[in-house]
Amino acid sequence: MTPSITAPTRDRLRIAIQKSGRLADPARSLLASCGLSWRESRDRLFCFGETLPVDLLLVRDDDIPGLIADGVCDLGVVGRNVLTETGLAREAAGAQPVFREWRALGFGQCRLALAVPDAWTWEGAQQLAGKRIATSYPGLVRQWLATQGIEAETVLLSGSVEIAPRLGQAEAICDLVSSGATLAANQLKPVETILESEAVLAGPIAEFDPVRAGLADLLMRRLDGALKVRKSKLLMFQAQREALARLLPLLPDAETPTVMRLDDGDGLALQALCHGAVTWQRLEELKRAGARGLMVLPIEGMLA
Ligand code: ATP
Ligand code: ZN
Repeated sequence: MTPSITAPTRDRLRIAIQKSGRLADPARSLLASCGLSWRESRDRLFCFGETLPVDLLLVRDDDIPGLIADGVCDLGVVGRNVLTETGLAREAAGAQPVFREWRALGFGQCRLALAVPDAWTWEGAQQLAGKRIATSYPGLVRQWLATQGIEAETVLLSGSVEIAPRLGQAEAICDLVSSGATLAANQLKPVETILESEAVLAGPIAEFDPVRAGLADLLMRRLDGALKVRKSKLLMFQAQREALARLLPLLPDAETPTVMRLDDGDGLALQALCHGAVTWQRLEELKRAGARGLMVLPIEGMLA
């Protein structure tokens, strides 16, 4: 039998994360909240998993989809923008799809937006016909233009996209936006959102061998617990029995609340695991509805 060179059997799982940048720390702390810990190599490129055989490779975010495609890494934490763009570029080059988004991770939110000079009155996508759009995301821009039925040119720039209109390289741009301050500083305004992005866990479309599949299953169960817990709070309070009918509708995002009877007759103690935001306003509403001694507690861990 010919030995396989592309997919060596490994008994450890390897996850690629950004070495430094916006996604580096949140990716690491999310994985740490799944109970992983590591010993770092001297060159700070590789972290050896200690609590579980799950190692980290620290790389540039743009390399992550390719590392998964080549089987060098099993999973990766990367922006949806990068994952989708790389997928489209591979598709355009005739390659089969090999990776996909496994989970959205709830951090690194931004949007890929089309922006035009402030002076333009935006009347819709047809205004771009025959124009040049500077971007680092030509695949996503072309896909969007196709859905709009518009022919326009993309000009590939790897950085400082927002100065392209001033330099006469393009009429419009398509770039990542979070606050819009950079666009405003360059007399540009966002007019269309092409992709809503956040950090995602990327993984292969194909199945892992049994050892890595077992590790990946374990990790995904913990990750789902960690993602759910992030937004969840334990709400504890007391109330009179007659207030219950007013209080329960204020907890639509709670798992079935635990209701305990207090010794003093009609008093109840309630515990509710809320998955939505527990704001001051909400606490005040609960209080008006008869809740007493409200307490909000963070959740350390959860396993469904
Ligand atoms: P690297 O050296 O790894 O290539 P980078 O400069 O490409 O780093 P960052 O600027 O750290 O990367 O951005 C990484 C990801 O963070 C982006 O691909 C995007 O998914 C997300 N992100 C969130 N907010 C923003 C923003 N305001 N601008 C750019 N990216 C953002
Ligand atoms: Zn990058």
